[in-house]
Amino acid sequence: MHSFDKDADHVAVDKVLSYARERLLMDPIPLDGAQTEDYLQSAAGQTITPEGLGSTRAMELFEHTLAPACLSTDHPRYLSFIPCAPTREAAAFDVVVGASSIYGGSWMEGAGAVYAENQALRWISDLAGLPESAGGVFVPGGTVGNLSALVVARHTARAKARQAGTGARPYRIAATDNAHSSVVSMAAVMDAEVCGVHVDDQLRLTGDELRKTLEENGPETFFAVVATSGTTNFGVVDDLASVAEVCREYGLWLHVDGAYGGAGLAAPSVRYLFDGIEHADSFIVDPHKWLFAPFDCCALIYREPELARLAHTQEAGYLDVITKSAEWNPTDYSIGLTRRARGLPLWYSLAVHGTDAYVEAIESTLEVTRFAADEIGRRDYLEAVREPDLSVVVFRRLGWGPEDYQAWTDRLLGEEFAFVVPTTFRGETLTRFAIVNPHTTKEDVNAILDTMA
Ligand SMILES: *Cc1c(COP(=O)(O)O)cnc(C)c1O
Repeated sequence: MHSFDKDADHVAVDKVLSYARERLLMDPIPLDGAQTEDYLQSAAGQTITPEGLGSTRAMELFEHTLAPACLSTDHPRYLSFIPCAPTREAAAFDVVVGASSIYGGSWMEGAGAVYAENQALRWISDLAGLPESAGGVFVPGGTVGNLSALVVARHTARAKARQAGTGARPYRIAATDNAHSSVVSMAAVMDAEVCGVHVDDQLRLTGDELRKTLEENGPETFFAVVATSGTTNFGVVDDLASVAEVCREYGLWLHVDGAYGGAGLAAPSVRYLFDGIEHADSFIVDPHKWLFAPFDCCALIYREPELARLAHTQEAGYLDVITKSAEWNPTDYSIGLTRRARGLPLWYSLAVHGTDAYVEAIESTLEVTRFAADEIGRRDYLEAVREPDLSVVVFRRLGWGPEDYQAWTDRLLGEEFAFVVPTTFRGETLTRFAIVNPHTTKEDVNAILDTMA
């Protein structure tokens, strides 16, 4: 029988690890950028063949053709969307997770990993002020985190309605249109309806507006409220305290989406913005955004994990041996069964550096953001749209239209100088810095702003 050749494996492993080592220690990092399909077709050609290319050729293809056709999201002047800038320890440990064939779905199979992941989750949960009994799981991203939490919210609300015999079958979610696009998408997956709440003049969801929406549409039709602690476009933190109060009044599930901004919980200078988060029934934060972990990692935490277990546990004869145990099985708390222990890179980096280093790193990105806002205010050709609450700043170049922004973006990327894309808000094209990389400096900010003069 044909099998994989063990001697050749050895060489391939060395090649992969030495490439990984080189990339992990690379400084400076090239920005790189996408190529056309035609280019890749001619440069890389057909890479999957019956005989195989062998490790030398395959690695060469990756190193010289495929990798350079991917943007480095950890480049200090990659400020678009939300960058991903893992610590070297976290990124390196991702290699270990891949190498270790750990099944992260159950205690029986992955106890050590689950124990470590749970300590990382505990740190986040404690920052939010959730009770000792809170717990959850690391899922691939904020989208899956939001979906998993909302499924639990609906499951719980319908069980309550059944028990009360009201005949209600809640199907609505209240959220503002500043909530992340994934909320609307995941509501569609659930066949739920998102009911829009007006924002205040600070672009926040507030208790008063929430109450109006609930009353106008019938509170019994709702099963959850989604508040955002750090909107993606502006970094706005909703008024969580007043929203939580209204949720309590109506017995509604409060889900707080902190996929981007949740890391701000660790930063003393902005912690007050999150007051009220301690009342959340569920909460997410993506360590792959502002907590210096590699893709793909979202921490999903429930106030009462038992409610999540009731909604998500998969039942089957071949799973009984796990399901019937009293142990903590991460797979029971989200969509999905098989699970990579994707919280381990964050855990390792936290264990190495300690949480104080995280606080400092988050504060340093906030400081660079405040510097950027000041510089924008100082330059007569620029204007901030809103003062940043967190580490996102949106601004306009006076006199520019959509084509000017796009041409500027293309030029900066073409020169591999920076990656900053336009955004739109209320019909206007603008641009935006998202600063979550501790290696992004004030000099980087100035250098980019200079190119807009
Ligand atoms: C990024 C983001 C999401 C989606 O997270 P993914 O990890 O990209 O799936 C959800 N909500 C907010 C506020 C985000 O910024």
